Amino acid sequence: MGLRVKFLEAIRADSEKAYEFGFKTAVKDENAILRKDTANKKFEIEWDLVDQEAMDVATHSQMITDDYFTSTNQQAKQVIAESFAEQRSIPKTVEALRSVLNQETWKLERLARTNIINASNEGRLAGYEKVSAKRQQLYDQGKITKKPKEDKYTLIVAFGSRTCDAHRELAGKIPAGGLTLDKLKELQISIGARHGMTLSGNSLLHANQRTVISRVV
Ligand SMILES: [Zn+2]
Repeated sequence: MGLRVKFLEAIRADSEKAYEFGFKTAVKDENAILRKDTANKKFEIEWDLVDQEAMDVATHSQMITDDYFTSTNQQAKQVIAESFAEQRSIPKTVEALRSVLNQETWKLERLARTNIINASNEGRLAGYEKVSAKRQQLYDQGKITKKPKEDKYTLIVAFGSRTCDAHRELAGKIPAGGLTLDKLKELQISIGARHGMTLSGNSLLHANQRTVISRVV
């Protein structure tokens, strides 16, 4: 198996675990709320756990790692071309190539982490969506009296020295009551644009950003 395939397999496997973890934690939180709403302490919804198809979409989509391989290849080719042009010694060329790989490996780790956090957030959202559908069904059956409200979400941004201005601003602009998923996406895109970033997805991820999506109860 080539190195590229191995990397992709490893990241996919971790992303799948992260997706499942996200799904389970979301469902667990929501089950506790449903127990309260149904006034039944034993109430437990049976979950046909992770929707394989949705998980595949979230974790097997064309990953950012493709950029990694393209950029590594290009840089390595450049080092070789330069070494040839400047008639560098082989040890010097190898050293230069190693430095390209080290740098790129660090980038890959960062991208893999981003992929995994993203998968976990997608899993959480899938979990929330399932519970939401179930809540509506229970309401329709008269098993809960509280009319289901439109789901609102917030983003929990990890603060640290690396937290960018866009995320700092974002964390301060989400109201305490949360936003609908559409509004949350709009806010992310508009703040991102002001900071010169192209941000998409459900949880405004860019490399190395740790952000968790959560439903506001
Ligand atoms: Zn950021």
